[in-house]
Amino acid sequence: MNGLEAVGVSVEIERKQILDGVSFNAPSGELTALIGPNGAGKSTLLHTIAGASVGRVSGQVLFEGEDLLRMPRRRRAQRIALVEQEAHTELALSVQEAVSLGRIPHLGPFGTETEKDTDLVFQSIAAAGLSTSEFAGREIAGLSGGEKQRVLLAKALAQEPELLLLDEPTNHLDIAAQLSVLNLLRRLGDSKITSIAAIHDLGLAVAYADQVVVLFSGKVVASGPVESTITPDLIADVFRVRAQVLKDPDGNRKVFALSPLDQD
Ligand code: ADP
Ligand code: MG
Repeated sequence: MNGLEAVGVSVEIERKQILDGVSFNAPSGELTALIGPNGAGKSTLLHTIAGASVGRVSGQVLFEGEDLLRMPRRRRAQRIALVEQEAHTELALSVQEAVSLGRIPHLGPFGTETEKDTDLVFQSIAAAGLSTSEFAGREIAGLSGGEKQRVLLAKALAQEPELLLLDEPTNHLDIAAQLSVLNLLRRLGDSKITSIAAIHDLGLAVAYADQVVVLFSGKVVASGPVESTITPDLIADVFRVRAQVLKDPDGNRKVFALSPLDQD
C-alpha cells in the first residue's frame, strides 16, 4: 500500500485510553486533513506517528511499507517531519539557526553544514513565506505567532521529509496566510511529499485536502476522499452543528454554511 497506513493504533496515557484502534490510509503525495473536535486525539495521533508519543502505543504505522514505530530514530528523522503547534526549544535561536536544525538528520558524522545545507535553509525560509533578508537573523522569541508558525514550517521543509505531519499549521495565521500555507501543502504533493495536517477549520479542510480522517473520542468515525466523507450528517454528529451545502460559484468544491443545531 502506498503512503501511510495506520492499523489499529491505540495509545494509553496514564492508564487512560486516548486513541482506540485507529486505522486509516493517507495516500502518497496527497494532503490528508485530520479533523475532529477538541480533545478528539488529533495531536496525540500526529505525535504517535512521528514517534514522539509519551504514552503506551500498540498497533502498526506503515509508511511506504516500512514500520515507522520500530524504525531507528535517525532514519525516521530523515523521512518524517512534525510541525508542532508552538515553538518550544527554538525560542533562544535565530530563524536561520532554528531552520538549520531541520538539516541535522542529514548531516555527516561531523555535523558540518555544507553550502547545499545552507542554501536549503534559505530556500525553506522563503518557501514558508518569510523574507530571508528580513527574517534570517531575527530571534524567534521576538516574532509574532504567525511568523513563529512559518519558522516551524520552514524547519520541517529544510528536513526534506517524505512524510510531513502538521498540527494545526494555520491557527495563528491571518486568512491570506492560511490559504498560502495550504496552497504550499498542496504543491508539496507534486514533489511526492505525503502530508497529514490537523486542520481546525472545516471549510479549509474541504477546500484544500484530498482525503480526510475524522476523529472523535479517540476513534476514527469516518475517512476517505473529502468530498464524499464530509457530509452534513457527519458534521452534525461529530461537531454538533448544522451544516448546509451551498453552491460554490466555481463549481469545484463543497461550501458549508454552519449554524447551531437547534436553530431553524
Ligand atoms: P486534540 O489534538 O484532538 O485536541 P489531544 O490529542 O491533544 O486532542 O488530546 C486527546 C485527549 O488526550 C484529551 O482528552 C487530552 O486531555 C488527553 N491527553 C493528551 N496528552 C495527554 C498527556 N500527556 N497526559 C494526559 N492526557 C493527555
Ligand atoms: Mg491538538
